[in-house]
Amino acid sequence: KRVVVAVDGPAGAGKSTVCRLLAEKLGFVYLDTGAIYRALGLVLYEEGKIVKAQRDDGFRWLEEPDINYLRSLPLNFSVMNNRLEIRYRNKLLDEELRLPHVSVLASFVARMQQVRSFATEIQREIGRSVSVVAEGRDSTTVVFPEACLKVYLTASVEERARRRLEDYKRRGVDISFEKVVEEITRRDRADSSRDFAPLSVASGAVIVDTSGMSIDEVVNHLIKLVHI
Ligand code: C5P
Repeated sequence: KRVVVAVDGPAGAGKSTVCRLLAEKLGFVYLDTGAIYRALGLVLYEEGKIVKAQRDDGFRWLEEPDINYLRSLPLNFSVMNNRLEIRYRNKLLDEELRLPHVSVLASFVARMQQVRSFATEIQREIGRSVSVVAEGRDSTTVVFPEACLKVYLTASVEERARRRLEDYKRRGVDISFEKVVEEITRRDRADSSRDFAPLSVASGAVIVDTSGMSIDEVVNHLIKLVHI
């Protein structure tokens, strides 16, 4: 039987690290749903559907895609060695998905219902074929409301900014702490006030505040909550 563990929460709460480790320990596939939105943002930009907005550092639609267009994109999602691989025109997408401007593109496309429906389709398809630890914004509320375990992982803004900054440094991105706090605050606001799938705690979800907890402590805590 396929098992789904779904984890939601704000940016920088430690979801990706925790979920990757949790998936490893359980022998499940780590389903990084942010990567799906990042890939869609990147690809829709590359395909010329999105252009840079003139007035601010944001983006605007040149043409809004419908679901059939999204399904026809030269974008391929597959599971290899227990991990999600995303290919665009047969090229594996990896580090480029983590670039700051791709974060902005991801948040931008994530506001569109057609994009969310398409991303949801992909996630459920993967969840039907393998056991997953799904990590995202609406994994517990929309995509997998029937998950065997639903977790809302959170932490204070400062703690989340510190973690995100370390992440950037590891990837060689030069950015200040203040800028990261700003980015996180801006994204929190955008993510919780958007029209579609605003970030919220699903019914039946367990709230875990990871401020002051080590990654291992969080992972071990979650493992105890999974009843297969
Ligand atoms: O988690 P990550 O930072 O990779 O997500 C990038 C962006 O994609 C988020 O800011 C959010 O707007 C969007 N997203 C989403 N739903 C998900 C995962 C990500 O809307 N399940």
